[in-house]
Amino acid sequence: MTRTSDPYRPGDPFELEALRVALAGLDLDDGEAARSRAAADYHWYSPVLDEKLRGRRPDLVVRPRSADEVLRVAAACARHRVPLTVRGGGTGNYGQCVPLFGGVTLDATALDRVLAIEAGWARVEAGVLIHELNLAVRASGQQLRMWPSTERIATLGGFIAGGHSGIGSIRHGILADPGNVRRLRVVTLEDPPRVLELEGADIQKAHHAYGSNGIVVEVEVALAPFVEWQHTIALFDHYGDVLRFGLAAAADPALDLFQLSAVERRITPYYAGLRDRLEDRDAMFAQVSPATLPAYAACVTAMGGRLVVRGSEAELLAAGLPSATECAYNHTTLEALKTDRGVTYLQVAYPAPLDPALVARQMVRLGDEVLFHHEFSRAGGELVAFALPLVHYFDEDQLHQLIKGFEADGCTIFDPHTWVLEDGGMKQVDEAQLEFKKLADPHGLMNPGKVRAWDERVLGIPGGRL
Ligand SMILES: Cc1cc2nc3c(=O)[nH]c(=O)nc-3n(C[C@H](O)[C@H](O)[C@H](O)COP(=O)(O)OP(=O)(O)OC[C@H]3O[C@@H](n4cnc5c(N)ncnc54)[C@H](O)[C@@H]3O)c2cc1C
Repeated sequence: MTRTSDPYRPGDPFELEALRVALAGLDLDDGEAARSRAAADYHWYSPVLDEKLRGRRPDLVVRPRSADEVLRVAAACARHRVPLTVRGGGTGNYGQCVPLFGGVTLDATALDRVLAIEAGWARVEAGVLIHELNLAVRASGQQLRMWPSTERIATLGGFIAGGHSGIGSIRHGILADPGNVRRLRVVTLEDPPRVLELEGADIQKAHHAYGSNGIVVEVEVALAPFVEWQHTIALFDHYGDVLRFGLAAAADPALDLFQLSAVERRITPYYAGLRDRLEDRDAMFAQVSPATLPAYAACVTAMGGRLVVRGSEAELLAAGLPSATECAYNHTTLEALKTDRGVTYLQVAYPAPLDPALVARQMVRLGDEVLFHHEFSRAGGELVAFALPLVHYFDEDQLHQLIKGFEADGCTIFDPHTWVLEDGGMKQVDEAQLEFKKLADPHGLMNPGKVRAWDERVLGIPGGRL
């Protein structure tokens, strides 16, 4: 049965049985365990999301094994008006993978083939694990330009649809910077579906859209020559010294850096595997090329620090130490949450260039309530710094007050306590993404409830409500 052309509205009934029949022969699972697993991502870092999204689950999980099977799922969901949420590794922090109104979760992890590896790029199915792709391209003497600190468990498609930047961004910029992602193949949610190719600036239409405007089935991503990055920890007497060192190191053309993550001494005790190495000091975790490691070490010393750990990732792991990757980005929050469930976090972008004096004032003002950790990165060619500070959580109002304070300092907040795409960081409607959603998801079935502009402009209902 084909429905009217009216878009799906949250709460509309849908034809699950008819969908099940249409998908006969595919890998389907509607068991309790599969449905709960498919609704779990890392939104529990936020006590706000943890409470508000509790109990939201898909009715059915489908795990397509090929792009043809994806086309069948897309056509059937469109025909029977069933909401669809795509899921990769399920490591997103904003409930991106949580289906707010049930329906189908499309688990993309069986779409994991590496299709081509050439000099400077690889073409892969979107569900490939980033770590597996890094291993696959290693044989050609290459590596990805960047990855999230969840490299071992996140998919490339999920990183592009839900992520922003990561390890490597100090060298290659953020995902949205031109050339990092070269092409996306996207399946629309129509009956019959279309297959669209996005290249160049058009990639932004589906990048960081939370899977709300098409199923990414294939990705062409840029590669860089392989470097055996040396993971290092440098200790300093003051957090301000770490930040000043970060600014100097990042700007030094003699240094080839892949990661630069500053972590203050009130956080480092959370790193269980490093406690006796960090000596109650403020730390810079970095990945440095072997060729420029001596210059890096000299720079550390010249700026009053001491290099206390160095080695390849394999060497660190063999010594029972965590890699620098897993001490950075949101792994810092994870390490804290392992022992302290009273902690949550914020995401704070600073005006460039970072002013360590501003951070010092914030540390005095916020006292023990907020513990600091900064990532140095490049975005649009500019050196930028953003913090993922830990917050000793009291209530939602506290977060609002903290956000106001950071904004009064001239910082921009990427709020990790909302499931709404625009409220998280964009703070404005991405018109190109909205237009693309009208084209690729005309019935509004993809991850419904996540795009405020769709709810308010197309459906005429308030956005951000459950
Ligand atoms: C400890 C920790 C550290 C993190 N560090 C970083 C970091 O350094 N940088 C960073 O950017 N993020 C980081 N994140 C967030 C998250 O890990 C990344 O964004 C990750 O790359 C998401 O990949 P995934 O496969 O888990 O995606 P998922 O969580 O499965 O999905 C993310 C979003 O993408 C959509 N999606 C997934 N696959 C597809 C597809 N094929 N087509 C269309 N839409 C799709 C989903 O619907 C969802 O909206 C971190 C999270 C944690 C828990």
